[in-house]
Amino acid sequence: DAQLRLSVRVAPLGTRYMLLIADDRTEAHRLEAVRRDFVANISHELKTPIGAVGLLAEALEHASDDPDQVRRFADRMKTESARLAAMTQEIIELSRLQAADALADPTEVDVDAVISAAIDKNRVAAEAAGIQIVSGGAKKARVMGDEGMLVTAVHNLVANAIQYSAKPSRVGIGVSMTDDIVEIAVTDQGVGIPEEELDRVFERFFRIDQARSRATGGTGLGLSIVKHVVQNHGGDVRVWSQAGYGSTFTIRLPRAVGSARASTPKQKVR
Ligand code: ADP
Repeated sequence: DAQLRLSVRVAPLGTRYMLLIADDRTEAHRLEAVRRDFVANISHELKTPIGAVGLLAEALEHASDDPDQVRRFADRMKTESARLAAMTQEIIELSRLQAADALADPTEVDVDAVISAAIDKNRVAAEAAGIQIVSGGAKKARVMGDEGMLVTAVHNLVANAIQYSAKPSRVGIGVSMTDDIVEIAVTDQGVGIPEEELDRVFERFFRIDQARSRATGGTGLGLSIVKHVVQNHGGDVRVWSQAGYGSTFTIRLPRAVGSARASTPKQKVR
């Protein structure tokens, strides 16, 4: 502080002081632009299912004497409202994550428990899609954080791996660790991601194939949520992929201090 005041007095146009202000403004502008974009994106994304529900309700009125048509329209209304509910939930989750830079109350979290919970949440979808989930690697990995958020992050990666894979195939979840870092890798043998899109998949509402992802119920928020959860935990998420062959998403988190060493890696089919 003293140094800053001195530099201002000695050189009022000195770069140190000017830069500080410039940075501050740029950051404020950037955050404001991010917020504006987010609201615009949300409005746009919500209009589609809301409009669809309205149109289907109208169609239902005119189809009231044909039971088959009524059932078809009602089914589509259910699908659209489920999509709306999922999207609203994800938007709330994402804005909550964006509002906080760090975790309020981190506790020690067992990574294996996170992975088991994420697999459980995806079991029905995996069975329906004819996909086997295989997990293995280091045991007793621990990180500091919020277990619920970490389950959401791994769940989102596994859900994508299933969604963008063809039947029959495998989705692998591997854990490895160094002295400082725990790494969770989710690998699929699915459609993969073209190289030119790799940088964009973590953006909010970004989908490679809008029509296809919409048909499969995607919102384009899943990976953005993963990114924010991981960042709030002081980690990062990366992707390797080859179109037509599959993808690997890797979450890296700081290891909890004093956690036990790795045991021999094993593979387990769940
Ligand atoms: P969505 O709800 O559409 O899945 P995400 O944010 O989770 O949204 O993913 C953004 C886009 O990235 C997806 O629409 C899809 O095109 C692509 N993507 C994500 N995961 C995978 C994967 N495992 N394999 C291929 N493409 C993927």
